[in-house]
Amino acid sequence: MRKKVIAGNWKLNNDLNESLSLVSELKSKLPDLGLNEVIVCPPYTSLESVNAVIKDSPIKLGAQNMHEADSGAYTGEISAQMLKSVGCEYVILGHSERRTIFNESDELINLKVKKALSKQLQVIFCVGETLEERESGVTNKVVEEQVKKGLNEIPESEIKNIIIAYEPVWAIGTGKTATPGQAQEVHQFIRSLVRNYYSEVTAQNIIIQYGGSVKPDNASELLSQPDIDGALVGGACLKSDSFIQIIKAV
Ligand code: PEP
Repeated sequence: MRKKVIAGNWKLNNDLNESLSLVSELKSKLPDLGLNEVIVCPPYTSLESVNAVIKDSPIKLGAQNMHEADSGAYTGEISAQMLKSVGCEYVILGHSERRTIFNESDELINLKVKKALSKQLQVIFCVGETLEERESGVTNKVVEEQVKKGLNEIPESEIKNIIIAYEPVWAIGTGKTATPGQAQEVHQFIRSLVRNYYSEVTAQNIIIQYGGSVKPDNASELLSQPDIDGALVGGACLKSDSFIQIIKAV
């Protein structure tokens, strides 16, 4: 049985005080997770302070992005080592907002994935098709390309440090959720890609999260699909009650 992993992507929300209130509420309401995992991904400015609150709890810390270089003249950027130094265990890479708004290519995302792994950060690696791509029937082709290029030259021994998040772009922040059947179909396909690139064991072990308007009222149906191993949550993670309800759906 694979564990379920629920991650909250706070995006460009919550200043320091708001971050501390939200994470303190989460910590106090957190149910017993068993073997499952909960990750919060606040903005950079709150990482260290949030880490101080969750240090003695099962909640893990993640960042929303990082630069692929170790250091240098990259004004405004943050390195993997900097994230490690403030307590991050995870980093989200390849989010569709990074791909579209910040023009991140599959090749750049692959460099970031390799750098994160080399610094012992675990990666939540996002893939997903646009509405136009889904309607033209090329969902699998698009997802395959993203997985293949994003994981290029990543050895099998490192795959245990990667979570793949399937996030159909048309479902992110729109209130439109993929049906459990639509999501399951793509998750099963992604698992088959991992089987082809690596092995049956690695395919069976890899965590594949679903993301795209996950809410308390659709979480349990999505999370009960055989190949859906958790959720990457945007909007609904900004209120402790709704995030806790999603966690409880596990
Ligand atoms: C996300 O940004 O990763 C996401 C899934 O957002 P939302 O839950 O708001 O659709």
